[in-house]
Amino acid sequence: MLEPIWQPLAQVAKELDAGRLSSVELTTQVLHHIEATEPKIHSFLTLTPETALEEARAADERRARGERGPLLGVPIAVKDVILTKGVRTTAASRILENFVAPYDATVIRRLREAGAVFLGKLNCDEFAMGSSTENSAFGPTYNPWNLQRVPGGSSGGSAAAVAAGQCFAALGTDTGGSIRQPAACCGIVGVKPSYGRVSRYGLIAYASSFDQIGPMARTVADCALVLEIIAGRDPRDATSAAQPVPRYSAELERPLRGLRLALPQECFGEGVQAEVRDAVLSAVRWFESQGVAVVETSLPHSRYAVPTYYLVATAEASSNLARYDGVRFGLRLAEEAGLLTMYGRTRASGFGAEVKRRIMLGTYALSAGYYDAYYLKALKVRTLVRRDFEAAFTRADVVAMPTAPTTAFRLGEKTGDPLQMYLSDIFTIAANLAGLPALSLPCGFDQEGLPIGLQLVGRPFQEAQLLAAAHAYEQAHPWKSQHPSL
Ligand code: GLN
Repeated sequence: MLEPIWQPLAQVAKELDAGRLSSVELTTQVLHHIEATEPKIHSFLTLTPETALEEARAADERRARGERGPLLGVPIAVKDVILTKGVRTTAASRILENFVAPYDATVIRRLREAGAVFLGKLNCDEFAMGSSTENSAFGPTYNPWNLQRVPGGSSGGSAAAVAAGQCFAALGTDTGGSIRQPAACCGIVGVKPSYGRVSRYGLIAYASSFDQIGPMARTVADCALVLEIIAGRDPRDATSAAQPVPRYSAELERPLRGLRLALPQECFGEGVQAEVRDAVLSAVRWFESQGVAVVETSLPHSRYAVPTYYLVATAEASSNLARYDGVRFGLRLAEEAGLLTMYGRTRASGFGAEVKRRIMLGTYALSAGYYDAYYLKALKVRTLVRRDFEAAFTRADVVAMPTAPTTAFRLGEKTGDPLQMYLSDIFTIAANLAGLPALSLPCGFDQEGLPIGLQLVGRPFQEAQLLAAAHAYEQAHPWKSQHPSL
């Protein structure tokens, strides 16, 4: 039998239910494993072992009283852009280095009610801006499959921690690919829900019309279990949808037959690593062998997705990040030198280079004289990108493509060239522009032993269908049982 720390959520919950293992024992094992692996990986910014053990004890008591649940007493961890009451929440930025969250995000509140044990806060790119976790003000995270490689980003700490067995599941956030791309780089499953599926209350905002919180775990079923807890209407987030939340974990066995898969021709050409293309196409052939109809499609406006995203997302970021003014949150410098100097010095030293670049880009895109040419134009292209998907969904139920054009790149390889870094998200951004649910799951390894991700994109609020298709593929392939040796 698998060591407890590598078991899927549902299985470890069974061990706990049967009394073969207590949450305190499980949490202690996981904490030891973190201690042993963390010097190599650096996925955590803050560890909370004492409160984790208290939560584990409380979960054991709840279980002793007869309570059950897949998350009850199970250790998880959270990307450090999500507020956790009483725990430092930094967004991987100097400007929030000592910020202690005064309340829990809605997703955290729901997970607490479900009895999850919180191990701590996970590293990411500063304010979730990046694709490699190298923009963290507190140093990068290393890919557990190869320590010379990035784990992807921005939820790189979340992906690395899950892949390394440091937690059973993690929360990430995805604005342009930040759950899916690191999931692909680290060989795990990551789900970006439909815009509005999960409450953003208590999420440190990057680009509010894109941001979504979602689960990252080693199996599709584990993601389903977490998603059904965190999803749903929240009166504290006006953009959260009232749609009922299916029990995703109960819908995983939906048959594949009758499903139609679309392959966008744009996603298999130039710039895509041959091994990535081959692995994704062979996954598609497997679906075909199971009776899934495969059609070719085109997303003609996807070539504008990256520039469109970098106008709209930075515009929103420039507004969202205005609140870090040295008055309300975190860092404050040069208070005695006058208000404007205080603002300037606080922001100059509190924000990193990429965050400043985006504030400048976004401010420019919104400025008088350029607003129509850039911001407004980008909004129109955003609509065209969405319509491409609507057209594809008249002939298919799910769009399949690579999650990222390449496997995990080397640390430092793209830090000098922001455009190259931005292109890591060329296949993930369109789903954010269109607000669609999308997930990444492992579909093989390249010659260097680095994981490859298959991306599936669905119609709004059709997470259940995506998860079922991904689960069927996962059941028939060996990828989920392979773990990095650390
Ligand atoms: N890598 C993209 C960016 O840098 C996406 C980030 C994200 O999804 N948070 O903006």
